[in-house]
Amino acid sequence: KNDDDAGTTAKEEASVDSKTFKGPITTRFPPEPNGYLHLGHAKAVSFNFAVARAFSAGGGRCHMRLDDTNPSKESEEYVNSILEDVRWIQRGLDGFDDDNEQKMGENAGPWYGNVRKTSDYFELIYDAAVMLIKRGEAYVDELTAEEMREYRGTLTEGGKESPWRDRSVEDNLKLFEEMRNGAYPEGKYVLRAKISMSSPNLNLRDPVIYRIKHESHQATGDAWCIYPMYDFSHPIADAVEGITHSLCTLEFEDHRPLYDWVAERCLEAGLVEGQPRQIEFSRLNLKYTVLSKRKLIKLVEDKHVTGWDDPRMPTLSGVRRRGIPPAAIRLFCERMGISKSDSNIDFTIMEDCAREVLDDESPRAFAILDPLKITIQNWDDSQLEDFAVTRHPKRNDLGDRTVPFGKTVYIERSDFFDLEGPEGSANGGKAPKGFKRLLPDGKVRLKYAYVIQCNEVLRDPSTNEPSEIVCTYFPETRAGVTPEGEARVAGIIQWVEASTAQKCTVMQYDRLFKTEEPGKETGDFIDDINPDSLKVLHSVVIEPSVASNALDLLKSIEESSTAVNEESEKIYHSSLTYQFERSGYYALDSSSTDKNLVFNRIVTLRDTWAP
Ligand code: ATP
Ligand code: MG
Ligand code: MG
Repeated sequence: KNDDDAGTTAKEEASVDSKTFKGPITTRFPPEPNGYLHLGHAKAVSFNFAVARAFSAGGGRCHMRLDDTNPSKESEEYVNSILEDVRWIQRGLDGFDDDNEQKMGENAGPWYGNVRKTSDYFELIYDAAVMLIKRGEAYVDELTAEEMREYRGTLTEGGKESPWRDRSVEDNLKLFEEMRNGAYPEGKYVLRAKISMSSPNLNLRDPVIYRIKHESHQATGDAWCIYPMYDFSHPIADAVEGITHSLCTLEFEDHRPLYDWVAERCLEAGLVEGQPRQIEFSRLNLKYTVLSKRKLIKLVEDKHVTGWDDPRMPTLSGVRRRGIPPAAIRLFCERMGISKSDSNIDFTIMEDCAREVLDDESPRAFAILDPLKITIQNWDDSQLEDFAVTRHPKRNDLGDRTVPFGKTVYIERSDFFDLEGPEGSANGGKAPKGFKRLLPDGKVRLKYAYVIQCNEVLRDPSTNEPSEIVCTYFPETRAGVTPEGEARVAGIIQWVEASTAQKCTVMQYDRLFKTEEPGKETGDFIDDINPDSLKVLHSVVIEPSVASNALDLLKSIEESSTAVNEESEKIYHSSLTYQFERSGYYALDSSSTDKNLVFNRIVTLRDTWAP
């Protein structure tokens, strides 16, 4: 905490009176189901839960609440995706159900079980509006939207009172009831709180608290045709749930006086039992991407990406499909911390968190992205030799895998340095100093197997590119052995045996935008889209153990989708991750079929053991 924070907290503390909730610390995560959740929401989930967990000994809890007050922008698809994403974020933690005995141990998740909705409280919120009318603190207005904007005034100029401001309580009650009963078209009337048209805070200049909308609501159907505004419904929903700390982003700081105004009156009228407090924290902004539902919706609708779960999207469904594990997202939120100052975070911090978690979780495997064929002259044609090798150098519990070796293997084209390539080209002329991999007259070790030596380079006659390298192997160098008196071969590379190799597709992603703050210079964030954010590799080969694990997973996903058991957790393709050695971390993509496996590159490795 810096001094500023301490100052604000002290001020907030001073404004709290004896009416605030004295119950257990209770927070809530209240997304509006008008889009998919993104990494900014993950920060809010993580913060709300961290507070609840910090006070878990005293019964601290966090509610999952859908803030569903605007039917025109909301849908069941969004509701379902939000719940799925919040569940996924807490994977691997113990959940807790706030209605049952709480299981908030060290590793408890933010929420499990009960889903609350602001629409559950529509009747109460309506009663609160009636209460305000009866107190002479709300009125039905019939200014047009444009007039209302005009009357509102500006920061430097006071507002003007509506001619309908002094309607009688009886008339207001009657009109408001008729609004509810569907007697009027949209826009004809609104209900406004009567606070002050001269307040320096624009939010207090008689804010609209209810409007007419003849639209079906995803949860309440056609039960209502008037809907409360966020500033009115939010404090009431918080109060009725006994929320002690209503944590929200900084842009709501100016709304806090209105929040308190509503909450105080509901308490006085006995509609609720205590008063919640609103406390602000800074939003997460990420460089080279956008975190705003409006912009994300545009990317999806105008097909700049393949969908909400496009692995380049900063949505939770996007990063999940890409293969970033939930633990990495939690680690990221923890690292960023919470403050009141705006930050613009580099996505590389997220990538570092992903590497850290994946390094521990992901088995190692061999994949060759750009294969070059190696033929081993002195190997018996028909024979394969199986090597049992570890899946993970630091995790014995993950066991071994079998890697077959044989007469033909693939290596990475970039692991052979073609001295006869065109001068000055990436792979031609003189080998760079320190190049330890295969040279036309050199040796290299195929990891876990043998040292091989290059004897001859066969070329594609049309391009002159190497098409096959003819080698010999040295039986006495098996599995890491260097025969006595011989120099150790420094270069060690990955490989995949050809007859057992499985072809697959690899998707490599780059940033979705070319600039740190998309749209800042150009005015339109769409203009800053990076046209090269996706590279598709079609001739990748993977070792057979990866293919068989992937096929097993596809099968269990298929089986679980037809199973009736709703208790079990959803299986995601991206739960299958690997470190393809010397390349990066990869996850199985959801477009995979048993005919074509597709892998997403999650992040590259920090190149530790090249060259
Ligand atoms: P957007 O601006 O993307 O439309 P929103 O704030 O309208 O997002 P809500 O569904 O209302 O989205 O958000 C639910 C919760 O998540 C709120 O408490 C909000 O403050 C928080 N939240 C949303 N975006 C961020 C962000 N970038 N960083 C931190 N918290 C966020
Ligand atoms: Mg919002
Ligand atoms: Mg919004």
